[in-house]
Amino acid sequence: TYVVTENCIGCKYTDCVEVCPVDCFYEGENTLVIHPDECIDCGVCEPECPADAIRPDTEPGMEQWVEFNRKYSEMW
Ligand code: SF4
Repeated sequence: TYVVTENCIGCKYTDCVEVCPVDCFYEGENTLVIHPDECIDCGVCEPECPADAIRPDTEPGMEQWVEFNRKYSEMW
């Protein structure tokens, strides 16, 4: 899965939402989030993010961000 990370805080762009083929972005408290079970790992959103906030969960230290994205995408 891809995850939204701290650079998203305060970002007002939604370029990522517009390109996602499976509509798996949700609104968190002050960031967007990606539902980790719905993301199909296509990677299309990553280069579209003007804040460079979207990372693959295969990078080191991403576990906490997977949980963050899961928590807020399942909250509503
Ligand atoms: Fe959507 Fe693809 Fe980004 Fe996952 S990697 S959130 S499926 S655009």
